[in-house]
Amino acid sequence: MTWMTQWSGGFPLALASAKGNKVTDVDGLTYIDFALGDTGAMAGHSPEPTVRAVTQRMATLGGITAMLPTEDAEWVAEELTRRFGLPKWSFTLSATDANRWAIRLARLATGKSKLLVFSYCYHGSVDETLVIVGPNGQQMSRPDNVAPGVDPIETTRVVEWNDLAAVERELAHGDVAAILMEPALTNIGIVLPAPGFHEGLRELATKYGALLMIDETHTISAGPGGMTARDGLIPDIFVIGKSIGGGIPCGAYGLSEEVATSVRENAGAAGLGDVGGVGGTLAGNALSSAAMRATLGEVLTEAAFADMVAMATRYTADAERIIVENDLPWSVTQLGARSEYRFVRPGPQNGGQSAAAADFELDQYMHLFTLNRGILMTPFHNMALMCPVTSTADIDHHSEVFAEAAADLVGR
Ligand code: PMP
Repeated sequence: MTWMTQWSGGFPLALASAKGNKVTDVDGLTYIDFALGDTGAMAGHSPEPTVRAVTQRMATLGGITAMLPTEDAEWVAEELTRRFGLPKWSFTLSATDANRWAIRLARLATGKSKLLVFSYCYHGSVDETLVIVGPNGQQMSRPDNVAPGVDPIETTRVVEWNDLAAVERELAHGDVAAILMEPALTNIGIVLPAPGFHEGLRELATKYGALLMIDETHTISAGPGGMTARDGLIPDIFVIGKSIGGGIPCGAYGLSEEVATSVRENAGAAGLGDVGGVGGTLAGNALSSAAMRATLGEVLTEAAFADMVAMATRYTADAERIIVENDLPWSVTQLGARSEYRFVRPGPQNGGQSAAAADFELDQYMHLFTLNRGILMTPFHNMALMCPVTSTADIDHHSEVFAEAAADLVGR
């Protein structure tokens, strides 16, 4: 994988085994895992209910993938409705694909072509989203965008996070099918929404006939129903992936009744039947469905989230204390079970500011410093995620190591 080359030292650890929030590498060294596969293992590694369910599906029942729906899939769709509110669901194998397919449906439902996204967003390897607001305020393709087929500025409008005036300016062109967003930026550090931002977005989307498409692949850290349930957001389209299968590849997107109706009415020649660019043979397979049912039903429960958020709160308070004690110009931001420090204080208000505070060398230093002391942080940024079995002892060990790194940096 491309990102593996960016590890400090130029290569990643190689995994031998993992359980709960511990990973062991091929040298036999065990680490407290705060990266958790960048959220894919938010349920902890190989949680027992998920392992039991997929083993039963694979070995006892049989039928890993058959291009047939299962009762598990029906249960999962109902559970997603209960958690996130939207009534109609379809499954994918990744959050990237959920975004790709749902973007097509947004175009179909609205008859409009463009997306509006936020600078330094990340929604997977989705062509339309690899855009930023450049140094002179110009909308541009990300400099690291690999050989795009068309310049994404033809498909996409991009503005800074927390800037409602810019959102309105771009929506006023009348060609935006959907505003695609994470309800807090999490892929350029964590940047929370300013008070009133979400209410403003909802109003503007409705006013200009754009759909509000909320990707909670990471922000589900906020709670069992993500930020959508916690903060009363009202998406027209909802996207999720990674964590809900306990590590087994899966994803899903949900549509409101209105969007589902428009999709059906506008389907026309597209028909949504077969090879039109939405769907895949492995999507919603029996194994993924069994994994999602067990993970949502028995692992990522309300009680588990309460513990995870408490651990992240402890982590964040310690990090903040150590930053202040050492007079470091850093900040730390928590989003439920997730916490991340950034090398700027006060914390950034948008993606551009957060990108400007990036320091690759310092990232590598912190990553290696903690790794050498038994802690695996998310590579090349400083996100720490809690899973249901992350303990106070794990947090306290991180706090000790973080304090040591901070003292080392300021020369104490
Ligand atoms: N959406 C968001 C918000 C993400 O952070 C990511 C991955 N980091 C994705 C989608 C894509 O997930 P995947 O690579 O598993 O398809």
